[in-house]
Amino acid sequence: MPMNRIQPQLGLPLAALLHDDGDGEAALIEARWPNGFICDRCQCTRYSPTHNGRRLRQCKDCGYQSSSIVGTVMEHTKLPLTTWFLAIYFLTQSKSGISALALKRHLGVSYPTAWLIRHKLMQVMFDREQGSLLSSRIEIDDAFLGGEQPGRHGRGGNKVPFVAAVETDLKGRPRVVRFDRVEKHSVAAIQRWAGSAIAS
Ligand SMILES: [Zn+2]
Repeated sequence: MPMNRIQPQLGLPLAALLHDDGDGEAALIEARWPNGFICDRCQCTRYSPTHNGRRLRQCKDCGYQSSSIVGTVMEHTKLPLTTWFLAIYFLTQSKSGISALALKRHLGVSYPTAWLIRHKLMQVMFDREQGSLLSSRIEIDDAFLGGEQPGRHGRGGNKVPFVAAVETDLKGRPRVVRFDRVEKHSVAAIQRWAGSAIAS
């Protein structure tokens, strides 16, 4: 069997995140402050931990409080970060996504919690996708989603036309992906899509 052309991205293995003593926070701290703590407000590098909130670091100069999860989707969470890491993993590794019910079972949390985690992560992915204009080298394909009807084969029926596009680096490695619904796969519709999805 040929090897998958997509090369693994450099990063932390999931197992390393899950076995981290501090519930995975060390990885976030490393990502946020790779050269050591820097105050977001005054750039001071000295801080003291506070005890009135989780993960908070207080700048010794200006008193500004920051943390590894401020400004992320996990801000204000009371769940272990490892629960979030697992949720991100399940949500992104399954080709068809994952339901809140399945997430509840996998994570061992309540249904409302699983629903909320899923909702927040999906929103973050959606927001990120909305802002990404594709540029550089781009591969595009037309496809249909859903609407399977018994006895009908191929394209047609009540399927929804959409465009799948991936921006790659010059070696063909994927960087950004977009999936956009289009009216139909006509030249005019694809041109309109390109006007809003591809950098000029
Ligand atoms: Zn400061």
